[in-house]
Amino acid sequence: MNDYLPLPIIKSLSDKEGFCDCGAADVKKIDISLLKYWLANNYHANMKYMENHIDKREDISLLVPNAKTIFCFLMSYNDEDISKNYKFKIASYAQRRDYHYVIKEKLNKIIKVLQTQYSCLQAVAFVDTAPIMEKEWAVRCGLGWIGKNSLLTTKHFGNKIFIGEIICNYSSDYTKEIKNYCGSCHICVDSCPNKAIKNNKTINSNLCISYQTIENKEDVNTDIDLNNYIYGCDICLNACIWNNKAIKINNQDDDVKRLVCSVLNGADNNTFDENIFRLLRKISPMNRIKISKLISNISIVNQQDKKTT
Ligand code: SF4
Ligand code: SF4
Repeated sequence: MNDYLPLPIIKSLSDKEGFCDCGAADVKKIDISLLKYWLANNYHANMKYMENHIDKREDISLLVPNAKTIFCFLMSYNDEDISKNYKFKIASYAQRRDYHYVIKEKLNKIIKVLQTQYSCLQAVAFVDTAPIMEKEWAVRCGLGWIGKNSLLTTKHFGNKIFIGEIICNYSSDYTKEIKNYCGSCHICVDSCPNKAIKNNKTINSNLCISYQTIENKEDVNTDIDLNNYIYGCDICLNACIWNNKAIKINNQDDDVKRLVCSVLNGADNNTFDENIFRLLRKISPMNRIKISKLISNISIVNQQDKKTT
């Protein structure tokens, strides 16, 4: 068969590029009832772009014509949180090189290798920016399940994972979905300081620190306890039992870590240096916010700190 791509070939390329797992699913419509519930409750807050391309989110073949297979690739960022030594906190996923670029480059490398062997292969790589239900596709690919905190959760790597996809016009060996291992646990739900985790594995972004410190481009609701976070939030991730059991990795992005430490140190000692943050924005996912937003987040944490002391 000349339009068939064996999964073991993909897995070996995935290993070579440092992904921790990968799987394949055939392209079919996806259940978007939870997305509709989330939007209907205005849990997306000001992220109005989430209302767009609902048809493509449901039917990926509208985004990639002739799509037959989606391969999902996971990359763990489950390593030491360097912000634990500081008063101010930055989510772990931002303490490294921007995953959008890192993963896209790796996926494009895989596509290039494949196209030397499969001349009719049409394939395109995505990381977090297109209207693709990435977590649901990773579940379809048998890589994990959606935890109550709405995150993809895996047995071996916990929930601190990035997801990337290759969508192509070849068929493959499709992996079976695994069961949901949350059971009666609701530790993550209880861990959220603002009760942002709602039923049906959805997050009310209006109450979520991650949304307030990054995506909310308007005034932050200062009633939301930022818990010292100035970018993102790891609380419900750290709380997950599967995350604690997960295989740890070694973050080798020392240049990013140094800059993160400098920013945190500056925030802790009131010597925040805009130039250091400018350098950090260039290489980390923190480019999603402007300097003014970070300064505002620091100031809110300081105000909240004063109220509690
Ligand atoms: S990221 Fe933080 S604020 Fe948002 S749901 Fe999880 S614990 Fe709550
Ligand atoms: S903390 Fe418990 S309920 Fe939440 S995602 Fe992890 S296993 Fe599931």
